[in-house]
Amino acid sequence: MIQTLKKLIGTEAAVEENVRLAPYTTMQVGGPADFFIKTASASALECAVRAVRELEVPHFLLGKGANIVIGDAGFRGVVIHNVADRICINGNLITAESGATVYPALIELAAAQSLSGLEHYVGIPSTVGGALWQNLHFLSPAPARERTMFIEEVLDYADLLTEKNESKRVGVDYFEFGYDKSILHWRDDIVLSATFRLLETDKADIYRIMKENLAWRALRHPDLKTEPSVGSIFKKIQGIGAGRLIDECGLKGASFGGMVVTHRHANIIVNHADGTAADLQALVAYVQKEVARQTGYHLETEIEFVGDFAPPTRGGPVFLPRPEGLITAEELAVRDAP
Ligand SMILES: Cc1cc2nc3c(=O)[nH]c(=O)nc-3n(C[C@H](O)[C@H](O)[C@H](O)COP(=O)(O)OP(=O)(O)OC[C@H]3O[C@@H](n4cnc5c(N)ncnc54)[C@H](O)[C@@H]3O)c2cc1C
Repeated sequence: MIQTLKKLIGTEAAVEENVRLAPYTTMQVGGPADFFIKTASASALECAVRAVRELEVPHFLLGKGANIVIGDAGFRGVVIHNVADRICINGNLITAESGATVYPALIELAAAQSLSGLEHYVGIPSTVGGALWQNLHFLSPAPARERTMFIEEVLDYADLLTEKNESKRVGVDYFEFGYDKSILHWRDDIVLSATFRLLETDKADIYRIMKENLAWRALRHPDLKTEPSVGSIFKKIQGIGAGRLIDECGLKGASFGGMVVTHRHANIIVNHADGTAADLQALVAYVQKEVARQTGYHLETEIEFVGDFAPPTRGGPVFLPRPEGLITAEELAVRDAP
């Protein structure tokens, strides 16, 4: 298999065997991939995808791994890690290969050119491909923060390798964007690059929004460097909020093995002590069961589970105490309510 893969991919990218995936995800969990291909250009990505399709081998395209949890038993097949990150600017159009990092690479470059439209997404771990898959979103600028802004608002067009192996340039309508969704959830198209149409604005305004948004996030989100996570775990329930339900059910601090519902933000689970994907699954199931029992609401996960999962190895729930002096995201929401 590896020889056939290598032959099809040629010099475009290296193929490795038995590569542990945890370091490639923000949750820091996940067993080995049978085969691992790192693609450093859009053409290498296209070549790798064509190869795995031709071989009809199971495959998964990995960006920053910020919206997925990979099972402890890993992935049987080929993981393609997309690090194609070339970016170029033409007037107010900025084109990025799909493995480019939205922040800092893309946003810092746009800001330095006084180009506005992407700065709202500062501090969110994402590649350009992942951002289109999920329609990256964040609140509009302070102080009003009156609506959610989506990356689709600045997307001009994208170059795809479609699920039928055609190279195709598509506009924003093609993606059928919604909240946390795009056509990429149900069509196996691959984004090779994307072009954003930005607005020339006063640079100081862009940097002000970046600073305010980074400060907003630092108060409400655990720091990925010390507390690995995958962002929000459960989908928003309109008008109620998944985090609020979890908080009201007294589930902050609930922990299975090395995974805990952080006291900082009820909708975020952090890996605080060599947690496993199985710990996470057990904790997610426990939170869903408790919330349903106490409120009647069913919480749906918004993250993707990838690969093979093993049964839980460590028990729970154990409840960890709230750190002294912490102001939680839920308390800040009440404080900031109009
Ligand atoms: C601390 C933290 C905070 C977060 N805050 C936010 C937030 O405020 N707003 C928000 O919207 N999200 C947020 N997220 C979620 C996450 O950052 C986004 O969903 C992000 O877009 C994921 O990008 P990624 O590159 O990591 O994708 P991955 O997790 O690697 O992949 C996600 C999916 O996209 C697919 N994919 C990746 N690249 C391509 C491509 N080129 N073509 C086709 N499909 C592709 C993958 O196959 C996979 O199915 C947060 C996550 C964390 C960890």
